[in-house]
This record gives sequence, structure tokens and C-alpha cells, in this order.
Amino acid sequence: KDIYAPGRVNSAGVEFGDAKALAAFLAEVGKGPAGFPASARPLVGGRAMRGAIRSVTSPVDGAVVGAVEEADAAVVKAAFDRAAEGFKTWSRTPASTRAEALERLADALEAERGMVCALLAREAGKTLDDGVAEVREAVDFCRYYAQEARRHFGEGLAMPGPTGEENRLTLRGRGTIVCISPWNFPLAIFLGQVAAALAAGNAVIAKSAEQTPLVAAAAVALAHRAGIPADVLALVPGDGRVGALLVGEPRVAGVAFTGSTEVAWKINQQLAVKRGPIVPLIAETGGINAMIVDATALPEQVSDDVVMSAFRSAGQRCSALRLLCLQEDVAERMLEMIRGAAAELKIGDPADPATHVGPVIDEEAKARLEAVVEKARAEGRLVWQASLPSGAPAGLFVAPAIIRVARPEDLTEEVFGPVLHVTTWKAGRLAELTEAIAGNGTGLTLGIHSRIDQVVEEVVARLSHGNVYVNRNMIGAVVGTQPFGGSALSGTGPKAGGPHYLPRFALEQVVTVNT
Ligand code: GLU
Repeated sequence: KDIYAPGRVNSAGVEFGDAKALAAFLAEVGKGPAGFPASARPLVGGRAMRGAIRSVTSPVDGAVVGAVEEADAAVVKAAFDRAAEGFKTWSRTPASTRAEALERLADALEAERGMVCALLAREAGKTLDDGVAEVREAVDFCRYYAQEARRHFGEGLAMPGPTGEENRLTLRGRGTIVCISPWNFPLAIFLGQVAAALAAGNAVIAKSAEQTPLVAAAAVALAHRAGIPADVLALVPGDGRVGALLVGEPRVAGVAFTGSTEVAWKINQQLAVKRGPIVPLIAETGGINAMIVDATALPEQVSDDVVMSAFRSAGQRCSALRLLCLQEDVAERMLEMIRGAAAELKIGDPADPATHVGPVIDEEAKARLEAVVEKARAEGRLVWQASLPSGAPAGLFVAPAIIRVARPEDLTEEVFGPVLHVTTWKAGRLAELTEAIAGNGTGLTLGIHSRIDQVVEEVVARLSHGNVYVNRNMIGAVVGTQPFGGSALSGTGPKAGGPHYLPRFALEQVVTVNT
């Protein structure tokens, strides 16, 4: 049983440089709006329920793109009731049958890629190439966990024992898993959590992010159409209050959460005091992700990788580069190149295939990012900021910026957007640098640019970040290739898209038979 799942091939992308391929893709996207779910409602047992109505606006231009009805206590109760019913059958459905449903969902997502990308651009402000990458990741999660379900949930493991006794260790679903996902990957992370929990034989109640209920509603509709039973997957749109209702329910059998460390703490606390079974929390949160660059690094490559890691996706990835640590001797030259490369970024409508940087998610994010930049400007620490194109749409755009900090310790918060902090370090002071980086307590992604193996080894040995990228960019972990997730303040593990993920959604059972 090969844990590296060699038979699976990741979903294909779109070659934007190939005019024919791009035109065909844009035609797919162009059909999108007709298929938009204009509304998202709580969906329990396949039935749309009512809730307080709110309009969903696009970060691109503030236009209303749909309406959402939010879940309340009655919806949450109904969702747990139906999930308990669904679990009885689903947990006993062969893993291979569960896997086939997820594989049909993957096929359906690929077939609906254009609609989904159009929706991602409109509702979440995702550029088209980020949209394609996100659909691919969602498809890969479904297929990978399907394959993992077959591997883990088959006949189990025969354990050694005395003669006259058979011992078999098997995995089974835990019950109802609550999945709480973020707006920055409203499809891939939303479905990644859901697919894993379902593959492991659980029923799922999924809370979509406040900002992105429409993408979630589209994903759940596709899942049900693909044969995931209605009772086994419920959608409960809403904000943190709905999350708290879900987590506090005595019947919750586990929580998968991706979002801020702050909310992960709250969930952990809530789980700790609730009555009922003691259940796992799988949390994936953010990080003050650093990249260490020494004097041997290739400047062109550093500059490309920095721009990609810090500014693409408008910096709204938890993996994004936040703190660039340049060796002093080469810092000015490197910064010059980075500014040059960053100035080439095209900021604007995410539905234009030429756009590199779309809007940030909401007013609050924009205000928070602008305050960081303004403070730096006032203190004389703003190194560079792009200018927004004239005639830019009136949406929530934040021009990429670079801010200087004297020491790595001075950046104490994850700034979630296209704002990069940069600092310098002196040759021979690698140990102090790694200590300062470790000092912020997060441990998600880490970049290293150096052509000296010992430097790389030394940094890797000193820092326990979950995903370390050497001489390349540090975003876009590939399912089944770079299992993703961090340590310490950045998350609990196990890693999404990795071989140890599914068992955390399961119970272990040993049956000992006296033969
Ligand atoms: N998995 C994504 C990446 O590697 C980041 C996920 C996130 O932002 O939560 O870039």
C-alpha cells in the first residue's frame, strides 16, 4: 500500500500564454453568470431553510451579486438532527463508494470550471489564474482523499498477536464533523475539509465564510448532484455566531477550522468546556512567514519569487511572504530589483486575464491595510508603493507596498494583504536571525534563498515551519506533493493534502477475536 498514491494525476490548468487555450477558457468563464447561484440559503437534508437575509457584494466594484440567508440556532439543531441520521448509513457505506462520489464531484467541478472561476472573481475578487488554481486544488483534494479513503478504510490492519487470536485495527467515521472555512479559498479549503471528513465516513455541517456564501452554495449543489447524500452534507452560511453555535453543540464529533489564530483559540476553548465527547480540533491558521535571502542567492529569482509570494493573490494567502530578510551586503540591489518587478504587476479587474492583483476582500481589510501603510509612511518606513491604475474600478483595491522594519522582531502581526515588510541581517548572524524568526511563534511557511547547502540545512534544522521552500516561491502548495499546514501558532496539523490527514477525521477500533 503505497502512501504516495502514484496512480493519481493532478488536475490540469490553463496555459494563459496559449491564445487558443485562453480563448476557450474565457468562453467557459463567459457563460458563468447564467449559472450563478444568486442566493445561498441554509441547506439541511437537501431542503433550503430560511434565515436573516443579507446581500452579498462584490469586492471588485461593490455591486450586489446575490443574497444570503444566514443560519440560526434552529437551523443548527436541524442540521445536527439530519446529520445524525445521515451518518448511520454513510459511515457504513463502503469507502470505495464514498470515494466514487467524491470523484464524481471532482469531475463535475472540472466541467463547471468556467462558472466557478466567474463566481470566484465576482464574489471573492480572485484573478482568473488564481481561480483556475483554486478549482484544480479543490479537484485534487476530492480525488486525493478519495484515494486515501480506499487506502485507510479498507479491510484495516491485521495486528500481530498470540496464536488463537485475530486482531484487526480499522478506522471509521467519528460522527458529525463541523467544517469552518475561510473566504480566501472559498472553494478549495471549503471542499478540502468537507471532502476529507466525508471520505472518512463522517457527516458534515459546513459553515461557509461570511464573505463567500455563493461559491460554497455552488460547491454543495455540485456535491449533492454528484451523489453525496443530502443528509450527509449540510450548508450553514453565517458569521462567527453561527460558528459558535456549531462548535458548542454537544453532538459535534470534530472540528476542522481554517482561519485566524484568534478564532482557533476561541474554538479550542469552547470545545474544552462543552459537555459531550472530547473531540479533535484540526486548525490551520496564519503565519508571519519569512524568507531568508543570503548574498549567494540569484537576484532575478529572488525578485520573481518575492513578488509572486508577497503580492499575487493580493497577499491574501496564509502561506504568503510577510517578512523578507535580506543579507545586508546585497539588500539594496535586491530591493531595487524587487521594486522593479513589483511595479510591473497589473492591478485591476480580476476577470481580466491580464490582471495579476485583484481587490482585497472587504472594507475592513482595506482600512486595516491602509492604516498599516499610512503609519509606515508617517514614520518614514515606507520603501515603495505601487500606484493604482488611473480609472481603476471603485472597488477595494490596495496598492502593493513594501515597508522597512529595523529588526525581524518588529513585525509582530500577520498583515493579511499585499503589504510586505523587509529587514536586513548581517553576514555571520544567521543564528540570531533564525531565533528572531522563531520568536514570533508562528510556523507556517518559510522561504530560503541561498546556494550554500549548509545555510539551508542550518536554517531547516533551527526552524520547525510546516512548509519550507528553498530557492523558489512559497505559495501554492500542491495536493499530494506539498502537504500543507504549520506548527505552533499556525496550526495543529495534520497537513491538508497529505497522507496523515484522513485518519484524524476517524476513530480507530480494534476487534480481537478468539478463534
Ligand atoms: N495552501 C495555500 C498555499 O499553499 C494557502 C492556503 C491558505 O491561504 O489558507 O498557498
